[in-house]
Amino acid sequence: MAAILGGGLGGLSTGYYLLKNNLSNNNNLKLLLLEATDYCGGWIKSIKTKDYIFEQGPRTIRPRGTVGLNTLNMMQDLGLSQHVSAIKPDHPAARNRMIYVNNTLHMLPSNLMGVFQKSKPFTKPLIYAVLNDLKSPHKELKDDSIYNFVDRRFGREIADYAISPMICGICAGDAKEISVKFLMKTLFEYEQKDGGVVKGVMKSLFKTKNQEEIEMSELAKQAVEEKWSVYTIKGGLDTIPAVMRQYLKENNVDLQLNCKVEEIQFIDSSLVNLKKGNGEILPANHVYSSIPAHVLANLVSKQHPQLSKLLNDIPFVTVGIVNLYFDTQKPLITPAFGFLVPPMENSPILGVVFDSCCIPDQNGTVLTVMLGGRWFVEKFGSDVTKEKLFDIAVKEIKAILKIDESVSAYHVNILHKCIPQYVVGHYERVAAIREYISSNNLPISLVGSSYDGVGINDVIYSAKTQVEDDVNK
Ligand SMILES: Cc1cc2nc3c(=O)[nH]c(=O)nc-3n(C[C@H](O)[C@H](O)[C@H](O)COP(=O)(O)OP(=O)(O)OC[C@H]3O[C@@H](n4cnc5c(N)ncnc54)[C@H](O)[C@@H]3O)c2cc1C
Repeated sequence: MAAILGGGLGGLSTGYYLLKNNLSNNNNLKLLLLEATDYCGGWIKSIKTKDYIFEQGPRTIRPRGTVGLNTLNMMQDLGLSQHVSAIKPDHPAARNRMIYVNNTLHMLPSNLMGVFQKSKPFTKPLIYAVLNDLKSPHKELKDDSIYNFVDRRFGREIADYAISPMICGICAGDAKEISVKFLMKTLFEYEQKDGGVVKGVMKSLFKTKNQEEIEMSELAKQAVEEKWSVYTIKGGLDTIPAVMRQYLKENNVDLQLNCKVEEIQFIDSSLVNLKKGNGEILPANHVYSSIPAHVLANLVSKQHPQLSKLLNDIPFVTVGIVNLYFDTQKPLITPAFGFLVPPMENSPILGVVFDSCCIPDQNGTVLTVMLGGRWFVEKFGSDVTKEKLFDIAVKEIKAILKIDESVSAYHVNILHKCIPQYVVGHYERVAAIREYISSNNLPISLVGSSYDGVGINDVIYSAKTQVEDDVNK
């Protein structure tokens, strides 16, 4: 019996890959999935009406690279192809991304020509960043913040106006704390091995590439051929966990909702007891934990305080999400993906997504305002109300987007500790956690957004690799 802890995307994907491996190996695996709430999907939550969709968590998925193609393969296998809504390169949501600096919205360059032209708030064309990299000295480091790296190699403006807001958009974090390996591992390796990014890129052109080969479904091939920028799911992203949950149920996974595990007791290398809140003990031969690292830290702290400490060293941030609907046919926004606000602007908002431009079948204007993140407590204190966040969000977007219309419908949520922060040293920390587990022969595998990437694709791919690693042991 294998047990999966948590029914978010990480737990559901683990179930999916365990079943796939089980079917192809003709095994008779018994699977148990334990979810603390009455809902499967974790942070993926959509509110649907006939006029709008409010996504409270993720909304878009990138189709690129091994991890992106892998997700599309899974989507097709689960019969989700018809729900996929692609944003192709000529779509405004693919071309138009803005930043808000000095009380003005600025469009970021979206093509090669733009790199040679001066565009505000940058004081020089972006091509100057390349020259900066060529003259910057080499600095030997094991890891660095992404801000320091970009500042050193490409200049302060790129760090402030491009990378810092991008980190806010991806993980609601501070680029000055996030590891360079989070987004720019290859570029950092070029700096460390070849003395600079441009030098590294030039050298790599003469090397044979060992790119990971991945089999491609029809859906993945379509995404590559049509050069999708991102895609979303018609009718709401929560269709994904709903279909996955159904797949697990049809394949006899014992799915227990409202089942919060409060302690993990390791007995030996193939027996572990999961203790529920009511004292009931569920034995398993192996556990796949997809719950956040800080929650797992509590569950293992009695027997393994050192492991608990390492898990607790992965920080998390809280994000306020305000979804707004304006019931009007009048165009209220420039067609675009949305805008991000660099932290140096000291704004309460991290950015705004123009959902009615990205997600099809919406009747009016739909916006999502993201607030706080790394600066949540600093800006709003620890007991801010949803009403207060709503007022702040509306005031900000009315001022920035010059909207006079009243809000027709809204939803506010405070997502406590929702996004892990891959701060400098993260990858070494995760390696130390897995090394502790392996050297103590603990029958547990770690999946979910705390370890191998924070996005949807990363979480699904991490489940696949952890399952395959265990099956091949
Ligand atoms: C606001 C926001 C916006 C995002 N936007 C995007 C985006 O646009 N694109 C993208 O690719 N990614 C995005 N992400 C990231 C993406 O949503 C996550 O990577 C993914 O949902 C994480 O899934 P998970 O299963 O690892 O964790 P979770 O969703 O946290 O699931 C963990 C599950 O474990 C359960 N659990 C916790 N404790 C216990 C316990 N003791 N016992 C049993 N069960 C327990 C929880 O109830 C939960 O269901 C976003 C995330 C957030 C928060």
